[in-house]
Amino acid sequence: MKRIFVRHLILFAATVGCVACGSDSATGPKGGFTGQIDVRYLSDITPALQTAMTIAAGRWTQALSKNLGDFAINLPANSCFPGQPPINETHHNLLLFVSVANIDGQGTALALTAVCRLSSRDTLPILSNTVFDRADLDSMDARGELQGVVMHEMAHALGFDPGTYVTKGLSGGGVSDPFFSGVTSRSEFAKHGAWYTGVAVPLEDMRGRGPLDPHWRSSVFGDELMISFVGRGLKSPLSSITLGFFKDIGYDVDFSVADPYEVVPFFGGNRILPEGSLRNDFQQTTPPKFVSPLIAR
Ligand SMILES: [Zn+2]
Repeated sequence: MKRIFVRHLILFAATVGCVACGSDSATGPKGGFTGQIDVRYLSDITPALQTAMTIAAGRWTQALSKNLGDFAINLPANSCFPGQPPINETHHNLLLFVSVANIDGQGTALALTAVCRLSSRDTLPILSNTVFDRADLDSMDARGELQGVVMHEMAHALGFDPGTYVTKGLSGGGVSDPFFSGVTSRSEFAKHGAWYTGVAVPLEDMRGRGPLDPHWRSSVFGDELMISFVGRGLKSPLSSITLGFFKDIGYDVDFSVADPYEVVPFFGGNRILPEGSLRNDFQQTTPPKFVSPLIAR
């Protein structure tokens, strides 16, 4: 799998402004799925990963709801990502493919997520893919980090990605001080990080991607689900700020699902060395295309 994935940054420019283009128009057998996230495994999965996926899907389903509609998806094999099976079906809401594969050996990248199709009506993902690095699964589990990584990747698959918030005009600040500008997330940030005097809500600024880096700024947020690394002792809490993000991009949100969280940076006394990186985990093989929902008759 190594080097097959292409940086999202390179391809994103071709995506912005592409509303309702590249629609998949074929129809297929009607699926029976009616929930929010349909997880479909494409490889053998360890019991620990399957348990973490089930918990994460349940938690995100409780937190987020949105009837995105039914989508006719007709894709040849490997058109979204390497190893993707041919798809010819009508699917409701998000279809998330999950597999375990060799990415880069132990350490560095732990997982990769890409969004392949977005709803043209809601600009929310309807087809995503996550790959977990086989070499890191056992160590993530042993360090107690697996559940947080799975929750993190599923957040990308659900829309914590530039294809949603940049397309909706919910970001700014350029390379030097990127931020997410959704009103709900900003309001929640103000409640829990009033000490911060910069422009909220700060996105990661360490890699020069500007708002195209779909992570909260680690130097401000400290231990939170959507920062770009994991480390021993981090709890990766799901904050109301992240839930506010999902409200801002269009989901209905149950804020009671949030973990307790205050915006506390990593100061010297509580500095934690990263043990695994999620910094480049949001990547694309092809730019996501838009699909129009079928109209119920
Ligand atoms: Zn990430």
